[in-house]
Amino acid sequence: MNVYRAEYIWIDGTEPTKKLRSKTKIVPAGEEPPIWAFDGSSTQQATGDRSDCVLQPVFVCPDPIRGGDDKLVLCEVMLVNGDPHATNTRRACAETAKRYADFDMWFGIEQEYTFFKGARPLGFPDSGFPAPQGGYYCGVGADEVFGRDVVEAHLDACLRAGLKISGINAEVMPGQWEFQVGPLNPPAIGDQLWVARWLLYRVGEPFGVSATLYPKPVRGDWNGAGAHTNFSTKQMRSDYDACLAAIEALKGKHDLHIQNYGFGIEERLTGLHETASFREFSYGVSHRGASVRIPWQVAKDRKGYLEDRRPNANMDPYVVTRLITDTVCGAASATKGKPREMAAAAASD
Ligand code: ADP
Ligand code: MN
Ligand code: MN
Ligand code: MN
Repeated sequence: MNVYRAEYIWIDGTEPTKKLRSKTKIVPAGEEPPIWAFDGSSTQQATGDRSDCVLQPVFVCPDPIRGGDDKLVLCEVMLVNGDPHATNTRRACAETAKRYADFDMWFGIEQEYTFFKGARPLGFPDSGFPAPQGGYYCGVGADEVFGRDVVEAHLDACLRAGLKISGINAEVMPGQWEFQVGPLNPPAIGDQLWVARWLLYRVGEPFGVSATLYPKPVRGDWNGAGAHTNFSTKQMRSDYDACLAAIEALKGKHDLHIQNYGFGIEERLTGLHETASFREFSYGVSHRGASVRIPWQVAKDRKGYLEDRRPNANMDPYVVTRLITDTVCGAASATKGKPREMAAAAASD
């Protein structure tokens, strides 16, 4: 064929949680996917009288659904004057990442999600509830595992798209699963996570199964869905004190982070079901009931990375990785920038 199909994917303006949208452009073979436009009045991104919004391609990969030369094209949403749209969170993430490029920030995100068939989570009976949680996490067998065909098809699609998926597992609640992306720098981690989410929804279509990132899909004694965000700076990867300093920095900005870690976070971060209460910051080695966990291997090696367990499954990775970068690298540069005061403080101790 002398053309290829480019699936343009973008993030809309739906409140309180943005949705993915996509449409197809036929592009001449050998040409890069160009700038394109869409009707922003249908995506909560514009009014009908000035409806045009612009799609600026930022991340292109093979389309594993269509195959061949076809492509997936993730875009930033821009105004016609070239400024980033108010709903475009990637731009600020990319700017922050650039400012702190010396830190070589890595992120690995654990995306949890829940399959639904109609109005019920996959694996839930038509009425009542399945057996209580306990056997489902990393389970095997038709009585414990629901939706593996879709999960495998999604993993395959992500790998064929060239995404840096690092693993998958069945989660604690039936019908709940996780995939991990990374480690990658921002904003690439956000790009790949958004494309992996799009593939999850898309792969579910022929199975008649939908996936939701809602943080607490079933009330009561059922785990919520999070997006644990593992991160490290170059310094943290070689020095434990840098890990502890990062924890201190996060502690000082707890409320700001909680407010930006996804809608409905109070429902999920109750202090039960492997979460810490959203009301206060905590941390601990191997502690899955803490806001931030220091993996045991990291405490042992005295270097490595941290797991911020607070983000919801429905968080925006551009927002979360921008905030963590800003908080952690900002605090580290502030201390570095004041060597005399630090030395003076240390001398007077
Ligand atoms: P958990 O034990 O919490 O379930 P997972 O194995 O699901 O952990 O996810 C761990 C994540 O941490 C992976 O996405 C991995 O890529 C990421 N990771 C590992 N090392 C680092 C590092 N040094 N910096 C940032 N992320 C890392
Ligand atoms: Mn995990
Ligand atoms: Mn998990
Ligand atoms: Mn985790």
